[in-house]
Amino acid sequence: MSPIVRFAPSPTGRLHIGNIRTALLNWLFAAKEGGTFLLRLDDTDRERSTEENAEGIRRDLAWLGLNWAREERQSARMDRYAAAAETLKAAGRLYACYETEDELERKRQRRRARGLPPIYDRAALKLTDAERAKLETEGRTPHWRFQLLNTEASKPLEPVPTLISWMDLVRGDQSVDISSLSDPVLIRADGTPLYTFTSVVDDIDFAVSHIIRGEDHVTNTGVQIQLFEAFGASPPQFAHHSLLVGGDGQALSKRLGALSVESFRDMGLEPMAVASHAALVGTSNAIAPRAHLSELVETFDLGQLSRSPGRFDVAELRALNAKLLHHLPYDAVADRLKAADASGGEAFWEAVRGNLEVFADVRKWWNVVAGPVTPVVEDAAFASRAADLLPAEPWDASTWSAWTDAVKAATGTKGRALFHPLRLALTGDEAGPELKVLLPLIGRTRAFERLNGRVG
Ligand code: GLU
Repeated sequence: MSPIVRFAPSPTGRLHIGNIRTALLNWLFAAKEGGTFLLRLDDTDRERSTEENAEGIRRDLAWLGLNWAREERQSARMDRYAAAAETLKAAGRLYACYETEDELERKRQRRRARGLPPIYDRAALKLTDAERAKLETEGRTPHWRFQLLNTEASKPLEPVPTLISWMDLVRGDQSVDISSLSDPVLIRADGTPLYTFTSVVDDIDFAVSHIIRGEDHVTNTGVQIQLFEAFGASPPQFAHHSLLVGGDGQALSKRLGALSVESFRDMGLEPMAVASHAALVGTSNAIAPRAHLSELVETFDLGQLSRSPGRFDVAELRALNAKLLHHLPYDAVADRLKAADASGGEAFWEAVRGNLEVFADVRKWWNVVAGPVTPVVEDAAFASRAADLLPAEPWDASTWSAWTDAVKAATGTKGRALFHPLRLALTGDEAGPELKVLLPLIGRTRAFERLNGRVG
């Protein structure tokens, strides 16, 4: 059976380097294994989820080239969750609780004061029908908890360790002790189902075979495995990747806004630079630019993901972007050059690509070639002497050395004293692509004007 994976963002914000990495790992896995990649919008939080964010997520994924076979939205499946809740109630695993948040807090404090873990004491399990009816006539609406199966039916003073184990495709043998967890609330008093529950119902209904997600979900996995089993389903395989930290080793969570896919796009970064970084960071592969997702698919292997956190640094991403551009062949950018009105063809691209940090820099270099450039001329006599020595066209890559040899012979100037004023006059700039390749593109007419101090 071919694998089915899902990327399940909540449309409460935009995608950032952390969750785009999760998306990419899922997508690459599906591509490598001939599987299916689904997009699932976890939008049960109606207040914080917006259509604008959902649209932004689709746009960000599309920008990176991560296509999805199908989109599912949790908000469209409320009937299904209600039915699934009935199944759990009938199996005796979902029970009504009536405590208010204050009452729960007091219970937690009391347990802490006694040196016990602040987990829910399952008092609601002991309510009689009459007590429940009384609470409801008092106007209380229940929230619903999933009864974890652990060694003791009611949480004892000293919980007995109950290990839930699985073979994680990234972390190897894993066990979570669920005796240290409260029975999780699956349905709020207002009827909204919560992530732990809806996720499992969906994963069963959509036949998800592999759950690839961040290691912040490891603890959830213990609970979710029990939920799969409570529904009579066998749990899928799990792969929990490590999370990213900043260059300073600190968690990225506080800076994620600035690390959104949208901000990368606004910075003019290439989607494949972002994808290469996101796919290779925290793996045993070197972070090098790949021009196509297919190249990332070729080397993809969940087993290469490191258990230690990956380091993410925007400066590194920018450097990777430059590296990617420096090696892109003309065919890959011909249309974009036209669209940027930098129609110097292959010779222009090859002359300037090594000087680009972002693609939009081609405008600057196109301007240097096609003008108008305001030349910087410090020694007018020297520059105009050089202008007079410009050979007749046609020009090619050998023109520069033939010309500068002639200028050197005529003026006795050499080295930097020779080349630097010529660059300043020809380009108006201190540094840039090799003049050997730039000069034929600038052409004799403009070169002559600039050397004589005129805008050209
Ligand atoms: N909406 C959840 C999140 O973004 C999905 C986690 C999962 O993959 O199960 O954290």
